[in-house]
Amino acid sequence: MKALEFSNVSLSFGGIVAVDGVSFDIARGEVVCLLGPSGCGKTTTLRLAAGLEAPDTGSIGIAGRIAAGNGHNVPPEKRNLGLVFQDYALFPHLTVAENVGFALRHLPAQQRRERVQALLERVGLESHGGQYPYMLSGGEAQRVALVRALAPEPALMLLDEPFSNLDTRLRGDIGRETLLLLRDMGASVLLVTHDPEEAMRMADRIALMHKGKIVQIGSADELYACPQNGFVARFFGDINVLHAVVRRGRAETPFGTVPAPALPDGAMAEILFRPEALQAGIEASEKGLCLRGKVVSARRIGADCHIEMLIRDDVAPLRARIRDFGPPSAGEELALTVRPQNIFVFTR
Ligand code: ATP
Repeated sequence: MKALEFSNVSLSFGGIVAVDGVSFDIARGEVVCLLGPSGCGKTTTLRLAAGLEAPDTGSIGIAGRIAAGNGHNVPPEKRNLGLVFQDYALFPHLTVAENVGFALRHLPAQQRRERVQALLERVGLESHGGQYPYMLSGGEAQRVALVRALAPEPALMLLDEPFSNLDTRLRGDIGRETLLLLRDMGASVLLVTHDPEEAMRMADRIALMHKGKIVQIGSADELYACPQNGFVARFFGDINVLHAVVRRGRAETPFGTVPAPALPDGAMAEILFRPEALQAGIEASEKGLCLRGKVVSARRIGADCHIEMLIRDDVAPLRARIRDFGPPSAGEELALTVRPQNIFVFTR
């Protein structure tokens, strides 16, 4: 039984198609991140799962029951969900303990107190039960919102940019803690973020969205190492681009040819490779690229050497990030190679 199942769900606002034929599912105990640029439809997808919007077409199932579509529209409070939004939305007039116990009102008082205390202990806030939300730091408020949503053990947790109000230093730590807690409680999670690193840290699978559609769904490694198009490849960080023409199943560049079996003869192709895919001191295999040029700038940053290299006057300087490689001087001649498995070829 799936914790969440979207089947061909669409929703438009006036003329804007916010969610366009989206299908995906979340297994029990799985963490799926909706990732994508601003306006791509992530929040609308989450709001559809929450029941805050109704789909125009398609259906949504939660924990094996139809929640929306086919004539159904189960209201949010009946969907057995835990919701955490950016602003945490804690009740300002209730204490921390009352906030966490809010969804446990059906339990006898003693049992409710014990459960609230256990949850607060789980996130290190056992001494904050009597405080009001305005007395909490951003990180503490985030943890209260999280355990409040988890308290009734919902079938599905929906988190919309839950770390975006935290400063960058805290974000990593709280993200790790949150993930541990969600895993510990066996929660099934749909998390919205626009930050690829956050998605890669948190998710079992990432659904990358663009213009209302899911363009690729898979593990962080699948999306990073086997992007299905240039949008996916570009979304996970800086990337170098060369242009090429396809002849007899290979994209030809002045620096070597790469396999392009899916592209027709004469197609204009773009060849993409990440700065970290470039290597120094390795002979190019006949199928890889060998890029020779002059160093424009080079700088050590942490363990890596960041190099900008001009390979041709009519091509933007390439960026390389190479481990264990002393920074060369500006103007020095350099040959860098890229292995075929690290090169992506798409039509332009
Ligand atoms: P962000 O990361 O900026 O929050 P998002 O990926 O979550 O973006 P959505 O908020 O889902 O994107 O919006 C998708 C599209 O639908 C956008 O073009 C947005 O302007 C539009 N949209 C969303 N909600 C409404 C609404 N209630 N009325 C009209 N248009 C809307």
